[in-house]
Amino acid sequence: MDWGSVGLGAFLGIALTVGLLALAVYPLVRRSFLLWAAFRALCFAIMSIALFPIALPGSVPAGDFRVDIGEIALSLAIGSTGPFLGAYIENQPRFARVRYWLGTLFIVGVFGAIATALAPLWSGFDLVHDLLLLAMIFGMTAGLTIAVRSGSRFAQYQAVGYAPLIILGLLVLSYELSTGAPVPYWPVAALLAVLVDFIVTSGGVINGYITVKRERDAAWADVSEARIAVATDPLTDIANRRGLALRFRDPAFGRPTALAVIDCDNFKRINDMFGHDTGDEVLIAVAEGLKQENVFPARQGGEEFVVLIYGEDYQRLAETVRRQITLSVLEKVPEVPFPVTASAGLTEVRPNDTLDSAVKRGDEALYAAKDAGRDVLLTWQDGQHRQPRILRGV
Ligand code: GH3
Ligand code: MG
Ligand code: MG
Repeated sequence: MDWGSVGLGAFLGIALTVGLLALAVYPLVRRSFLLWAAFRALCFAIMSIALFPIALPGSVPAGDFRVDIGEIALSLAIGSTGPFLGAYIENQPRFARVRYWLGTLFIVGVFGAIATALAPLWSGFDLVHDLLLLAMIFGMTAGLTIAVRSGSRFAQYQAVGYAPLIILGLLVLSYELSTGAPVPYWPVAALLAVLVDFIVTSGGVINGYITVKRERDAAWADVSEARIAVATDPLTDIANRRGLALRFRDPAFGRPTALAVIDCDNFKRINDMFGHDTGDEVLIAVAEGLKQENVFPARQGGEEFVVLIYGEDYQRLAETVRRQITLSVLEKVPEVPFPVTASAGLTEVRPNDTLDSAVKRGDEALYAAKDAGRDVLLTWQDGQHRQPRILRGV
């Protein structure tokens, strides 16, 4: 069996997996380290194909040209390790500088690639390429060390993956620069070192994805919690004025048929007689009483509530919730010995109504209900306030 080809095939398979994994995760978390990871994997794959003695199509024959392509790819691969690491480590102010410097290492990689491409014109460029490669490895090592010493856990993790490649790179380059001859078998050793790097990096990509996703999920949870909080009345846990406005225009529920403004009668007396805390308990019980199917209750402020009513049976529903208030308070706050009643003003919601215009008519009917002696529901109709006929049947 040709073990060289098997090894190369396995390497290419792993490179492809790392690259595709990073690309697949990118749309989900949109962090640039994933694109750099994919680019690195591609460069290392090109490098390995170019440097290994396998038959390629006629346009890429074995020889100097293929070695040059391999070295260009190697330069770009090492160069892109900097921005990968810079984007990968924790995005915190104390790492801002090292992240920036690691990012600029890619420019050195591009110059290294250009030097190799120009080598046929002047052989001195080969030396320039080697020196730039050495500079990149030193730059990477310095960046990695600074990040690890500043406490970056991500850098610590990647350092394990890069160690074989860095050690090998330094050995090969110092040998080549001092003797002028390439180290035998260095491409095989390089593939093995890159393999270690790939395995660690793919773990890093998955870990990075999980971390970013966890942070994002937590941020979303905070946002939706805050969204609910600003629309909820903290005392009664039903909607507040803002929650009411959101619900009124929410297309998911359609437009309500009617709206009632409901105000507790003589509430001041409850506070005066039993204290503010008991008053609060009564308000909580009132809110409970307003909870019915096809009714959306909201606390407008103080002891005043607004309910949105859905469906044709809105007059009966409005009267039901108004009476339910008394029952709910009797049951939940037994220390208040007398029935707590409420007055209500009801109006149909018209096609061109805003929440305010509908509430305004509901308020008018409510004032009329208070004038009429309280504990009653009145309906607004063409400026007149009258008791709905349905009440006799309730
Ligand atoms: P009416 O029948 O005319 O509505 O009389 P009322 O006493 O209910 O109305 P008024 O507006 O005179 O008093 C409302 C009282 O509601 C006064 C205020 O202390 C009380 N109140 C408003 N908000 C709260 C609250 O959050 N908790 C408690 N315990 N009392 C509240
Ligand atoms: Mg009142
Ligand atoms: Mg009031």
